Formats: sequence, C-alpha cells, structure tokens
Amino acid sequence: MKILGVSAKTILDSRKEKTILISIKTDVGNFSASSPTGKSTGKHEAKTYKKSLEGDIKTIKDFSDYFSGEAIEKFDDLRRIEDIVDKHLGANSFFALESAVLKAIAKEQKKEVWQLINPKAKKLPRLVGNCIGGGKHSDSQKRKPDFQEFLLIPNSKSVKASFEINKKAKERVKEILQRTDKNFEGKQNDENAWISSLNEKEILEILKKLNLPLGLDVASSSFYKRKNYQYKNPLLKRTSDEQFDYLSNLIKNFNLLYIEDGFDEEGFESFAKLLKKFPDSLIVGDDLTVTNYKKLGKAIQMKSVNALIVKPNQIGSLLEVKKVCKLAKENNIKIIFSHRSGETEENILADLAFGFGADFFKCGIEGDVREGKIKRLIEIEKDLK
Ligand code: PEP
Ligand code: MG
Repeated sequence: MKILGVSAKTILDSRKEKTILISIKTDVGNFSASSPTGKSTGKHEAKTYKKSLEGDIKTIKDFSDYFSGEAIEKFDDLRRIEDIVDKHLGANSFFALESAVLKAIAKEQKKEVWQLINPKAKKLPRLVGNCIGGGKHSDSQKRKPDFQEFLLIPNSKSVKASFEINKKAKERVKEILQRTDKNFEGKQNDENAWISSLNEKEILEILKKLNLPLGLDVASSSFYKRKNYQYKNPLLKRTSDEQFDYLSNLIKNFNLLYIEDGFDEEGFESFAKLLKKFPDSLIVGDDLTVTNYKKLGKAIQMKSVNALIVKPNQIGSLLEVKKVCKLAKENNIKIIFSHRSGETEENILADLAFGFGADFFKCGIEGDVREGKIKRLIEIEKDLK
C-alpha cells in the first residue's frame, strides 16, 4: 500500500469539544480515523498535541509530501510513519494517523485490522461498563460522588450477552435511583453513566442488588491535594493510610473485583500495599501507568498492579502500545483497553483490543459512540463462529 497524501481537520467529540480527524489518500482508496480525548488525564500522559490542535493540522499538511511513496505492508511498518513524524505531532494525531494507516493496510490485504496485529487472536475481552459516574466526568453537578466510575463487569461467555446484561442493569439502576436519590434527574454524564448525588457507599448498596461483579474507577489523582484525598461528598479529608483503610473496607463489604487508580498517580507504594492485601481483586493502573512502557516497568518492579488500562492516545504510538501489551503479558498483568470520556465515532479500539489480546474492554454502556465500539466487538465475535 502506498500513501499518496495526508490531511487533517477538526471535528467535535461526544463532549462537543474539538479533536482531530486524519485522512490519508492511498493507492487502495481513502481512509480516515479520529482520536478521542480524555478529561481526567494523567499528569504523565503524552501531550495530546505538539503545541495545539491547529498546529498539528498544519504540520500534517506540511508533511503530506514526505509520506508519498512510502510502501507500508504490515503493522510494524508503522515505524516508517513514526520515523517521519517522530517528535512533530502530539499523541492524538499519532493515534489517528496510525489508525488510518492500519485501515488502509487491512483493506489492501482484505483483512480486518485485528488480523494485522494477531491473525490467530481468539480470546474476546470481558466488558467493563460504566453505570454511575461522578468526579470530573459529571462536571456540572454540584453534589456527586467523588469516585469517577461505578462499573459493572458481567461474567458471561459472550460479549453480546454481557452488553445486554449491562444495558438491563443500567435501566434497573435508573429505577432505583428515581426512588432513592431525591436529586436524580435521569441525566447522564460524559461517558453516558447516570449522574447521582449519592455518595460511594450509597451507590454501592444499590449496585449490590444487581448481583454482578463490581468495580470502581476512583480516579483519585483528581481529588488528591496537598497529600490528602479531599472528599466533598461527604466533606472530609483522608490521608493515604485512611484511603487505604477506606478502599479495603469497600473491597471487603462489596466484594469488589476491580479498583482503578485507588491512589494518586505517584502512589506506587500504596497500590502495592493494596495488591498485597487483595491479590484476588484487580488492582488497576490508569493515571499511574498511562500506557507507558517505563511506568509499567516501575509498577511491575514495585508490584503495584496486576492490571493496567491501555488507552492508545495516552501514548499515541501504536508501536508503543504493542510494547506495553507485550510487557504486561510477560508479567501476567491483565490488559484493559479503554475508551476516553470524550469519544468519537471511531471504533478501531475494538480491533486493537482483540488483536492485542485484551482481557477486558472498558466502555460506556449506552450512547452511539460507546455502543459502536461494543457492537464492533460483537461483530468480531460473530465472525469468529
Ligand atoms: C478514565 O479515567 O478511565 C477515563 C476514561 O477518563 P478520561 O478519558 O477522561 O481520561
Ligand atoms: Mg481511569
């Protein structure tokens, strides 16, 4: 496949904020891909754009001719693209550009994108669905849980069945919230999770009734200030030790399967303490590890996590994503591919997750941009049969 030209423009994501869409012209047709954007971002994530979105769009225009004639046949040939754009683009642009290139290779070879990564892939990831949300994703709400996400993790054999289980459960939760949360208005947040004014424990009491494995994205860096976890609902401060005790109680009382970013993004030791105490739960790094090879290396060395979030645009380069997934696998760390809070119609995340052998797939339960990704996974599941 030969690239003949590259262009980029601005589109709006699901939060109505600007993001990048990149189109490439090739000898086998035209292909585009866009990038999502996070809001509760880790401090150590790669920069979204080199200087600005507009700057990256201009760089792509300026570089368009450099790609001409580059012959790209396989996943690892993304190296040729990276050699050209190297330090000139931010992570969102990298991700969109490389995704468009993968679509072109797949088309030329009459393959699916996931087959370019691992033609023998078989294992489908288990769904992790965001049901109720707080923190930065429920921004306008005055009273809201400090934790960012309350997650449902059905253990069904198929993605399709899990998708349906989560949708039904979310509807049931709506009915319960209508009765129990006097401020509930039936509104959804950035990730299409219910906005509630209840606190963590009250919400977990509701979710317990569903009889489904439960998880939390505490996203605690977003409320960690001056060495304390500063809760607003109810108003209190917790030191790292108090946060440890609080999370331990929640894990025990609600039999939690999954705890993401229970401590702030520098808290490798606190993560390790929690993993030591709860080796059978998933102690997940997101802001801690930011899809970064070195950060994951540190987390492995310090025994901080047994699972990590992979968000391709946290790092940008899909070759780096490949390295991170390989390191995770070699060290028995579960891999969770994840959407971002500001999403687009782009569904390549499902192919990447399947190709890289993800154990879990974290996404919203409802809404076009969320469901599109799960539906692509269901399509992959159907084609395997
Ligand atoms: C997350 O923290 O897991 C998340 C999806 O947030 P964002 O996309 O806002 O960074
Ligand atoms: Mg997170």
